[in-house]
Amino acid sequence: MKNVVFLGPPGAGKGTQAVDLARKYGIPHISTGDILREEIKAGTELGKLARNYIDDGNLVPDELAVDIIRKRLQKEDAGNGYILDGFPRTIPQAEMLEHLLSEMGTELSRVIYLDAPEDVIIKRLSGRRICHQCGKIFHTVNMPPLKPGICDACGGELYQRPDDEPEAIRQRLQVYRDKTEDLIQWYADRRLLERVDAGIARVETYKKLEEILSRLQ
Ligand code: AMP
Repeated sequence: MKNVVFLGPPGAGKGTQAVDLARKYGIPHISTGDILREEIKAGTELGKLARNYIDDGNLVPDELAVDIIRKRLQKEDAGNGYILDGFPRTIPQAEMLEHLLSEMGTELSRVIYLDAPEDVIIKRLSGRRICHQCGKIFHTVNMPPLKPGICDACGGELYQRPDDEPEAIRQRLQVYRDKTEDLIQWYADRRLLERVDAGIARVETYKKLEEILSRLQ
């Protein structure tokens, strides 16, 4: 089964790679960050609650993130596998996920650690631009749109995430080091971890990820 987690610092390319691989294998790409941004856009109570944490580069409370995942994993399309992107982000979240999956009679197949050096990450995050309409990700230098500020795919307007501003980037990296990085050892201890170099060209990383995913039955 392809029940996969993408783990790694912000800017490692988890979302970008997950979109392509999820399409290839016909499994959902589940990003807690995307779900929370949708809630903010829709102006829901959850969105209002989450907004301040997100804009400042902090994590939303564990229970909130786990609740989102619990609901999402119960949807039918998650029955044949999924790529979790940005979840879990803390050890309590990982423990709750393990518990939740065992209640559902299933488990993770692999946790892939997308590893990239900090200077690469900072450049990626600060140049990232996203389409308001379709969510496609661009980069001002590495992957510029044909027309500045406009999405090649749908003509939508591109925007910069508030948490991709320099101050929030610094905070997100600090939070990653404080709370998320420990998960690398946690999953290595459970023999689920596989490391992939995500500091190289996007297509090269894609090939390595594809190799791992295609090995999972
Ligand atoms: P991302 O799109 O994965 O970079 O997530 C954007 C923001 O959403 C993070 O900086 C957090 O504020 C929040 N977030 C996303 N996933 C989680 C999670 N698993 N736990 C706590 N906060 C999360």
